[in-house]
Amino acid sequence: MGYDVIVIGAGAAGLMAAGTAAMNGHSVLLMEKMEKAGRKIRITGKGRCNLTNARPAEEFLEKVRTNVDFFSVAFAEFNNRATVRFFERQGVKLETERGERVFPKSGKAWDIANALVDFCEDKGVKIMYKTEVTAIETLGGKVTGVRYRNARGFERREETQHVIVCTGGVSYPSTGSTGDGYEFAASLGHNIEPVRPSLTPLVTSHPQKEYMNGVLLKNVGAKLYVDNELVQE
Ligand SMILES: Cc1cc2nc3c(=O)[nH]c(=O)nc-3n(C[C@H](O)[C@H](O)[C@H](O)COP(=O)(O)OP(=O)(O)OC[C@H]3O[C@@H](n4cnc5c(N)ncnc54)[C@H](O)[C@@H]3O)c2cc1C
Repeated sequence: MGYDVIVIGAGAAGLMAAGTAAMNGHSVLLMEKMEKAGRKIRITGKGRCNLTNARPAEEFLEKVRTNVDFFSVAFAEFNNRATVRFFERQGVKLETERGERVFPKSGKAWDIANALVDFCEDKGVKIMYKTEVTAIETLGGKVTGVRYRNARGFERREETQHVIVCTGGVSYPSTGSTGDGYEFAASLGHNIEPVRPSLTPLVTSHPQKEYMNGVLLKNVGAKLYVDNELVQE
């Protein structure tokens, strides 16, 4: 009767969740509304995908500003060293660059996305593309299935008792992440914090700003002052 698990969204999180659930013996359906998996991964790190950092795993938690406890649970299960081992086992050669940043040796983010898709397929995940989940159904406080629009535009439903929402945030909506997950979570009674950008262009009124157009900076620092007080460097 249906799948053990339905994962919504085939980005980095969804591919990893789906493959791991299947590896642990569950039947898994992964539903992705775009025509391809991992569209955002494919443009990360200027097309090269900075997939992790090789600094000591213990240092990662120091960089988390809010909700460290939540993050530390996940990180205890799967840290940066595990990430490197995972991709190497999938046959992706990696290299570490300045700042201990880890990239695929090929310089192609596509290799990372494809490795995650291969992981899912190897473990027997069924992937449906051009399939947009429109609602998570519940009965008596329990998940019973999902409603979705299939590739031909027809409304359908699929039964399951377990759903993993991996629909991403709202950045770069052309890659498929348009915030649907917030609506699913709200419809199930969760409180949603208002979202705002964390990666943003710098805007300046400097008179020579037109000369800066297209200038690419390397190894620069930046200081943020609020009311003349240094708050971040
Ligand atoms: C330009 C750019 C560069 C970046 N560079 C790096 C980098 O070098 N290193 C790094 O670690 N991070 C980088 N990031 C951040 C990183 O890409 C994201 O943190 C990561 O991709 C998020 O993965 P995700 O699976 O949570 O969400 P997403 O990758 O956004 O995936 C969500 C998926 O869910 C699907 N979806 C959404 N709604 C539905 C629905 N209703 N039904 C079915 N499917 C749905 C979407 O189509 C999408 O495929 C970068 C981000 C950007 C924008």
